[in-house]
Amino acid sequence: MLSDNFGRFHTYLRISLTDACNMRCNYCMPLNSYKGNQGIDLMSSDEIYSLANTFVLLGVTKIRLTGGEPLLRNDFADILRKLKSLPVTLAISTNGLLLDKYFDVIRECKVKQVNVSLDTLDPDTFKEITRSGRLAKIISNINTLLSFDLQVKINLVLLKNVNEHDVIDLIAWTKDKALDIRFIEFMPFKRNGWDKSKVLDYKTVLTNIHQHFDIVKLKDEPHSTSRNYQVKGYKGSFGFITTVSEPFCDTCNRLRLTADGKMRNCLFAKSETDLLNPLRQGQDIVPLILQNIKAKAKALGGMTELNNQGDRSMIQIGG
Ligand code: SAM
Ligand code: SF4
Repeated sequence: MLSDNFGRFHTYLRISLTDACNMRCNYCMPLNSYKGNQGIDLMSSDEIYSLANTFVLLGVTKIRLTGGEPLLRNDFADILRKLKSLPVTLAISTNGLLLDKYFDVIRECKVKQVNVSLDTLDPDTFKEITRSGRLAKIISNINTLLSFDLQVKINLVLLKNVNEHDVIDLIAWTKDKALDIRFIEFMPFKRNGWDKSKVLDYKTVLTNIHQHFDIVKLKDEPHSTSRNYQVKGYKGSFGFITTVSEPFCDTCNRLRLTADGKMRNCLFAKSETDLLNPLRQGQDIVPLILQNIKAKAKALGGMTELNNQGDRSMIQIGG
């Protein structure tokens, strides 16, 4: 039922649990000081479950919890335990700082995939990007995660003249670690300081990688948003999310729910549908969901080129 006007069937829901964060990555956090959860009415754990359940009944098979920083929610374990009862693959996106607090519940709820943001291995660059400084703890948490029975992905946002050298260092990590690394092109969102000149495009990075490693192209999964590669003989792999230089919208199967219960059919959608208040008023939200999907644009939320004029920052949408 979750198909749009272009025949794309949506099975993947990303739920933002909060727009607050304990880091302040300069490519994500709006330029002026930003305090999350100010003036927004967060979905409760029961409401998250109820909305998720409706999406599952309509065909969603994978749910990712994101934010802001999802692990900042005091009821994170409660939310995860509720969602565990649904027939879905559970995934989490996190900056990794609080992961050690939730290792037990992540295993108990059989989370299949944890994506951790890690934009550099250099402590000074880490401080510059995230405006906080607990790199060692994040690396330690990633190493612990790798001993669990789940897929670990690392997300690195490519920033020109900032973390180019980290690409090579992180690929070297994949020699012995079963990690998937995603190099993400810097995307424009409300007040995130984006400028085309700061975008490090994947072709430039790939050319550099070729000079250091003997790599092979991997087969990309049907709904994959990344172009995937592996160094010959290495345990892990890496890929590029090329939203800016070569968008990949044709096979998009993703839907999003913001922390205040607004449904968005694209990261770059120009409008959103409130599901939380209708849910609270006892209305049937299924027609609202279907209407929202039918309004999905073919690509980039209807833009022909990415620009900087979104109505929400990444932290308010949920990455
Ligand atoms: N706090 C968690 C984290 O950092 O993984 C989850 C939320 S974060 C918004 C989700 C992902 O969005 C992260 O991997 C982050 O690097 C990515 N992201 C944020 N702003 C971005 C931007 N302007 N361009 C590309 N990726 C971005
Ligand atoms: Fe926080 Fe994640 Fe955004 Fe960094 S990328 S500011 S960790 S929400």
